[in-house]
Amino acid sequence: MNTEISIEFFPPQTPEGIEKLRSTRAELAKLKPEFFSVTYGAGGSTRERTFNVVKEIAAEGFDAAPHLSCIGSTRESIREILNEYKSAGIKRTVALRGDLPSGMAETGEFRYANELVEFIRAETGDHFSIEVAAYPEWHPQARSPKDDMDAFVRKVKAGANSAITQYFYNADAYFHFVEEAKAQGVDLPIVPGIMPIVGFTKLARFSDACGAEIPRWMRKKFESFGDDSDSIRAFGLDVVTELCERLLKGGAPGLHFYCMNQSTLTTEIMKRLG
Ligand code: FAD
Repeated sequence: MNTEISIEFFPPQTPEGIEKLRSTRAELAKLKPEFFSVTYGAGGSTRERTFNVVKEIAAEGFDAAPHLSCIGSTRESIREILNEYKSAGIKRTVALRGDLPSGMAETGEFRYANELVEFIRAETGDHFSIEVAAYPEWHPQARSPKDDMDAFVRKVKAGANSAITQYFYNADAYFHFVEEAKAQGVDLPIVPGIMPIVGFTKLARFSDACGAEIPRWMRKKFESFGDDSDSIRAFGLDVVTELCERLLKGGAPGLHFYCMNQSTLTTEIMKRLG
């Protein structure tokens, strides 16, 4: 199977983390991803670290896609970042609203991601290929599924080229989302975000916060393994590989891996997919 994939990293905080990410990247490069993306802390908290990783990826000859979130930012600061990336030869970005850490006041000049997409287009024309986020199980703050779909369509119409979804373990939610988006006239690729499963407790906590559902049958099984990490890993690999197979068979245009700066699970899943 010839599957187009992209892989997401977060910018490490320590010199050891940066070094480890280099070897992770060297491993994952063997999968020939279309691009590596690097997350960005809302309010600019990782601005320099994100930029440094992005520059390294580009210097290694790969397509790098910095994420850019706009909440808590001014137009001027986003303009500066876009210019930095343009000068560094970066041609792709993942445009997001972001989530401000609790307690941080919202003083920025953007409210939603569609405003950032509009701004990037107004400032830089067609220079950047723009990815936006999509939520097959709906964004946790959305007033209703319809409102969330409307918000997604607004981002697309503002000038996005492609979308990457929040991770999910329920393929039907993805297919339903894609159908609804099509019915709204959206015809750009909507690439499913895939979260390989390293451990269950953290994943469960994180999933609650970001509105991704772990289906009951999976949750029960994970819980039954207790702290038997080998069984968790084996079962996680099976379900995520099957999910990927179903998505690709059902027409997903590629896969975006949230690899959590680790190479083994993503590599194993791709190996199993052939
Ligand atoms: P938006 O599309 O703006 O939507 C946010 C919420 O507002 C939704 O509930 C939507 O329905 C609602 N909404 C939109 N427009 C309106 C309107 N006009 N009126 C009322 N409601 C509206 N976060 C980071 O901080 N850094 C990252 O690097 C990062 N990378 C990510 C990558 C991917 C692929 C994904 C899926 C998420 C990522 N996130 C990241 C998380 C993301 O920032 C959060 O999910 C955030 O809460 C929403 O961002 P968004 O761009 O989807 O926002």
